[in-house]
Amino acid sequence: MKHRIGIDLGGTKTEVILTRANPLEVVDKVRVPTGQEKGYHFILGQIAGLVQDFWARLDDDPVVGIGIPGTINPKTGLVRNANTQCLIGQPFGQDLAEAIGLPVRVENDANCFALAEARFGAGKGYKNVMGIILGTGMGGGLINEGHLWVGAQGIAGEFGHSTINFEGPKCWCGNRGCLEVYISGTAAEANYQKRSGQFKKLAEIYPLTGEDPHAQATIQDYIHHFGLGMANLISCYDPDIVILGGGASNLPLLYTEGIEAVRHHIFNDELDTPIVQNQLGDSSGVFGAALLADS
Ligand SMILES: [Zn+2]
Repeated sequence: MKHRIGIDLGGTKTEVILTRANPLEVVDKVRVPTGQEKGYHFILGQIAGLVQDFWARLDDDPVVGIGIPGTINPKTGLVRNANTQCLIGQPFGQDLAEAIGLPVRVENDANCFALAEARFGAGKGYKNVMGIILGTGMGGGLINEGHLWVGAQGIAGEFGHSTINFEGPKCWCGNRGCLEVYISGTAAEANYQKRSGQFKKLAEIYPLTGEDPHAQATIQDYIHHFGLGMANLISCYDPDIVILGGGASNLPLLYTEGIEAVRHHIFNDELDTPIVQNQLGDSSGVFGAALLADS
């Protein structure tokens, strides 16, 4: 294997990179609108075309991996739990492999994030890594002894849909009071809107905490639930490090008061687990996808 192709299929944008296999070095990349509104076959055709363009420049067959905002049912090969909804119920991996003409490994995007950060980012040197994305939704991925742990049913790391308040708001997944409903970036924005009557992005809410009581309360709620959720996860998995990604991971308070809130709830006398921001930024998903072939 001389080259890898990694694809990050997002709700709005799709990125494809061509890298040398070892050491991982980006040769070329392209970013296009996903075109979700144009449907499943458009998405398939567009990605296949971009991969074939890169492949045509190589003198051997690359390995191809793709991260998607959903999970694959290992029994059926069909996509489930995807917020790019036209993928749901489709044999996406099989269809994409046929369209490209090469085998393709498909994984959840948060798993790709965790893999890339563990190998090349904030988790380098750690054996057991928990990656958490706090963005539109909440996703997670687990790296065990340096390798991606997808679980028996392919849902390992789907922490976002564990209930922390069974009387809480209804989640799109059908449960109530899921962690995602409290600590995704979207959840914080919805909380602010409910309190103030105004919509603002989380990045705009955070700087207002000194002057706007609604912003102050929104961030306090967020920190409280972050502490609760992360303490549960760390108590279950006890990873060597927790790496945060997604828009909400940019809140500086997570790494001070947020960690204190985790310490308050954890089932231990002290909290030794580092909780840190990612190092690869938006590129982690596409790098992780490129690494899937030997994950
Ligand atoms: Zn849910």
